[in-house]
Amino acid sequence: MAKAKGPLRPDTKLIGGGRRPEWTGTGDQPGAVVSPPVWRASTHLYPDTAALKQGPTRNEDGRFFYGRRGAPTQWALAEALTELEPGAFGTLLYPSGVAAITGALLTVLSPGDVLLVTDNAYDPSRHISNGMLKRFGVETRFFDPLDIDAYRTLFCERTKAVLLESPGSLTMEVCDIPALAAIAREHGALTLLDNTWAGPTGFPALERGCDISIMALTKHVNGHSDVLMGSVSAGEELYGQLRRTAQDLGHVVSPDDAALALRGLRTMGVRLQRETDSALELARYLSTRPEVAHVLCPILPGAPGHDLWKRDFTGGCGLFSIVLKGRDAAARARFIDALELFGIGYSWGGFESLAIPFDPAPNRSAGSWPPSGWNKEDRLGVRFSIGLEDPADLLADLEQAFAAMEQDGA
Ligand SMILES: *Cc1c(COP(=O)(O)O)cnc(C)c1O
Repeated sequence: MAKAKGPLRPDTKLIGGGRRPEWTGTGDQPGAVVSPPVWRASTHLYPDTAALKQGPTRNEDGRFFYGRRGAPTQWALAEALTELEPGAFGTLLYPSGVAAITGALLTVLSPGDVLLVTDNAYDPSRHISNGMLKRFGVETRFFDPLDIDAYRTLFCERTKAVLLESPGSLTMEVCDIPALAAIAREHGALTLLDNTWAGPTGFPALERGCDISIMALTKHVNGHSDVLMGSVSAGEELYGQLRRTAQDLGHVVSPDDAALALRGLRTMGVRLQRETDSALELARYLSTRPEVAHVLCPILPGAPGHDLWKRDFTGGCGLFSIVLKGRDAAARARFIDALELFGIGYSWGGFESLAIPFDPAPNRSAGSWPPSGWNKEDRLGVRFSIGLEDPADLLADLEQAFAAMEQDGA
């Protein structure tokens, strides 16, 4: 095959990543295939005892050893993700996004260390910090991701790592990741980013100063709401440490799930583009509605975080939130229950649209919610994950649900 000139663009890398000829066959051989086959194995067989004895010493990535080290289906997915993340040496796969976060934290932290966690972190990330990590002697301090001065004062000799999530997956704050990561580096601390919202095509995390990029592949990479998986990408030294921890914890993913996630990855570019376009259209519409106090959608010009998003990101997605103007929980429930094209369920990034209510206040400890200057009555949130439906139908659905919210309340 003729090589294209210059570095390939992300949408092209999505198509070719991980399709090594030794895993798919090559076009001039009969039986060559486009996608690496599902390679199910716990046991790999060796030709003789001498080769078996060599196994553990020749078990670097991409070589057979034992099922826990994977096989071509998992390696192809990991390699495709590594190719998408500039600066990454390798990528590890985990049985869920939460396992990826835990695996990364357990790799970089030791008893006595201090971890800084953004106050808008995904709920289970808070739980890991306040629970398991505390038990293991790690102290967590939460910070307002938009208050850089306060963040700076939290560092001490023992601060080993910072966990960021931007935009926050409920409240959509966009923080100044390069600035926060630079401050962490000055203090000798590593920056871990939960990059599930943008992914490497929308935010090249390592290039922007992060040390470890984490994703719930459950969301956009798989994209079809039927697989749980996580990934962590990093440079060479950290990758080696992450890999040892993953092996010690027995973190593996099935080849069937890896094949599904790899299939999802191939179409992620067009799905993200469609979702982003639709989300922008719907966010514009929602910002005109009298029932809506705030539209939390960084891709929308004028919305909170838009300027930083525009400066740092190369793409968006269909996940955003609104805060209702002065309505009560019953009105919000009428609104969500009246939606016909939006499923009610957790997770996001699938081909179908979803809506959930959210109330972040009880999960905040650094005073970052609600933002200062907001009207106290405007506090009930609805989060939308916009799928691939025709946006005109979604808009009409929102419109009839607003009508239902007001009617039944009388
Ligand atoms: C869903 C999610 C996760 C966890 O992924 P699972 O595969 O559900 O464990 C982590 N971070 C963010 C931001 C998420 O939305």
